[in-house]
Amino acid sequence: MPASRRVTRAVSEVLDLAPRHGEITLPRLVQAVSEDRGRPIELTTAELPAGVCGQWRQYNDHDVFLIQEGLPAWDRTLAHELGHLVLGHEGIPVAQAARESTELATSDLIGYMLNQRTGCMGPNGEDLEQEAEDFAALLIFRLGRLPSDRASIVQVRLGEAFG
Ligand SMILES: [Zn+2]
Repeated sequence: MPASRRVTRAVSEVLDLAPRHGEITLPRLVQAVSEDRGRPIELTTAELPAGVCGQWRQYNDHDVFLIQEGLPAWDRTLAHELGHLVLGHEGIPVAQAARESTELATSDLIGYMLNQRTGCMGPNGEDLEQEAEDFAALLIFRLGRLPSDRASIVQVRLGEAFG
């Protein structure tokens, strides 16, 4: 399914923010978006519930993208979460995130929050998940087509990206 015009524009806007020199990596793009918004975005890995790939948490003054520890295709998940953010979807508010970290989430709660198809944890409907998926696919595709001295989504290892 071709990406909507809204998604295509969002991808272009993110790529426009890319640093003019040096390699463009996904974590660098996330950093550029963060600077553009004037709001820090923290990248971190976490042991999320089984089946969950990623989660976006919204705090008062910053955002956090959590990526499942050891996830092989983490760039796709990172791009997906970035898609939610730049497309103006809602992340998980801090109160809820805090509740999760102090109590073990019951499987009912996880079932409610986790989109089974994308492995994304968030209070999002199917349409928003599809939009974030389209964004991720297009962003990674276009990153891969940048001149080879600039594009690199595979050269950064997870450990380096999430320092
Ligand atoms: Zn999602």
